[in-house]
Amino acid sequence: MADDVAENLAEVLAGIRRCEVDSGRETGSVRLVAVSKTKSADEIRPALVAGQRVFGENRVQEAESKWPSLKAAFADIELHLIGPLQTNKVRDAIDLFDVIETLDREKLARALAEERAKRGHCPSLLIQVNTGEEPQKAGIVPAEADAFIRLCRDDLQLPIEGLMCIPPVDEPPSPHFALLAKIARRNGLSVLSMGMSADFEAAIQVGATHVRVGSAIFGARPPHRQNG
Ligand SMILES: *Cc1c(COP(=O)(O)O)cnc(C)c1O
Repeated sequence: MADDVAENLAEVLAGIRRCEVDSGRETGSVRLVAVSKTKSADEIRPALVAGQRVFGENRVQEAESKWPSLKAAFADIELHLIGPLQTNKVRDAIDLFDVIETLDREKLARALAEERAKRGHCPSLLIQVNTGEEPQKAGIVPAEADAFIRLCRDDLQLPIEGLMCIPPVDEPPSPHFALLAKIARRNGLSVLSMGMSADFEAAIQVGATHVRVGSAIFGARPPHRQNG
């Protein structure tokens, strides 16, 4: 089990490095966010022992139950929130996460700005773009992305570093990755979080700086929690 995680991790990292070379990207320019949602601290530890330090979780409460002890045991952990954030959880999220990848609406932007003013600090933020314009999915639709970026960055002075997307499951992902890259480029944003276990190579080809990989490292998750 522990051996599997270390082995899978090494394989994913090798795949990322290979893809960097093939795509003419600088070696080490793509960071792996190991998605540990639904996995226990014991299941996560082998990845930490193997040297992985950047992790993604999709629920604030679940992350709060696992990560304080792991953070105490391993230095330099960088934790990303990759699931939806409710405004009443903003305070907890700011305490625990180093990056929030799912800034997806004005109400949340204002809550983050307010909390930032109170505390004087805020995690790095990525804006989630709903590139497939799926009604059930979170994120700013592409047509409204430029205005939302301006609101967050210029009006609210939030530390917006880039964009994140989750393409529709039933479509080829590359056009969605390319669209996200285009929106980032025209807004001068450098971070692109895109690509998961099934498609991170395609994402790297069009400029991903962060890939979020879960099941390829930690194994399959129980189906009812897959997208939650
Ligand atoms: C679960 C999840 C991932 C990882 O998906 P895998 O297919 O297991 O690699 C990536 N991004 C987000 C937002 C997720 O919720």
